[in-house]
Amino acid sequence: MIKTMCRFDDDIEFKNKYNDLLIIERPVKKFKNYKRKKTIKVKAIRWFVNGDHPNDGPSNKEGKVVRYYKNPDIPGSSICDICGNPMYRHGWIDFDDCGRIVCPGDYVVTGYLSRETFPMAKELFEENFEEEIE
Ligand SMILES: [Zn+2]
Repeated sequence: MIKTMCRFDDDIEFKNKYNDLLIIERPVKKFKNYKRKKTIKVKAIRWFVNGDHPNDGPSNKEGKVVRYYKNPDIPGSSICDICGNPMYRHGWIDFDDCGRIVCPGDYVVTGYLSRETFPMAKELFEENFEEEIE
């Protein structure tokens, strides 16, 4: 008996089988675990008062890195929302066109490559960085 040849498109049964095969042969995608490729190296010092940063001068003068916090719109006696200390105890770091307020107890962090200096809250810093023992 001679079987009629069907084209794939016409043979529904074959087409269904072929589709099944396609699905089966497709590799199963699995999640892979990734870790951060580059570690970020920074220099950091915990800042409490003017003069604490090694690149700043004596504590009775305004530092080059951590400057005095001065804002004509905010009185020095007003209380900081973040740390609860009066604003006169805060520092200021110039950053881009603006600046960053340094709360007492913040880390002052400088990137090894970027050379940017910025304050970071103690909890956040200690969560993300560990001391490099040489
Ligand atoms: Zn504060």
